[in-house]
Amino acid sequence: MGRSTNLSLINHNVYTYIKDKFQSAYIQSSTSNNNNDENDNKDAIVNEEKWSVMVIRDPFLLRQFCDDVAFTRSIREIEEEEAEIRRADQPVRCVQCSDYYLVQDNKMGVCVHHDGFVYDNHSITLAQWGQHAAIAQLLKEEAEAIKQSSTNPLTPEQKERLEREKQRFKYICCNQTVQASGMVGGCKRGKHSLADAKLIQWEYECDHNRDYQDKRLNLIQTRI
Ligand SMILES: [Zn+2]
Ligand SMILES: [Zn+2]
Repeated sequence: MGRSTNLSLINHNVYTYIKDKFQSAYIQSSTSNNNNDENDNKDAIVNEEKWSVMVIRDPFLLRQFCDDVAFTRSIREIEEEEAEIRRADQPVRCVQCSDYYLVQDNKMGVCVHHDGFVYDNHSITLAQWGQHAAIAQLLKEEAEAIKQSSTNPLTPEQKERLEREKQRFKYICCNQTVQASGMVGGCKRGKHSLADAKLIQWEYECDHNRDYQDKRLNLIQTRI
């Protein structure tokens, strides 16, 4: 269309003008009877086209403009938008804190978790455990103790030892004791994991964190 000019849209009237121009764009078929002789009395069909072309880089502004001019959307666009709305309403489970959240609520600081593995403070090698494996182990030991005490009551010494054993797992990130039950906050605050995050991947990151591996080695060395 000839020369192009870049304009920043400070004056709202410009937008209103463009909108009106865009809405009055059309393709219309009209019949013409001017050349009857040449066309053997058949009406010639002439397409009258009036075009407006808008180039919008920002997806939000594009959507805004489409809404403003009531532009017909393709089925694919409508389906994509519906899928996006469905996703926004669907609670996602965070692999870091095991809580559910909505994507639009995922802000900095809402996710409280530990980002390191667990170590057994009673073992000489400070045996390394995964977070979930350590909790499962504590629950298993608790169940076994209850089972045993039902047939053979525990002595006070045994009870005391069991209580001590329960405290042996610590998170490497903060040395907090791992609790088998109840709501336990973490030492880190951040965003929840993304919807496609996998628990196995998160655990791998916790288990292989270089800083925490070094921290564990230092702890071992101070005890030799
Ligand atoms: Zn921690
Ligand atoms: Zn979370």
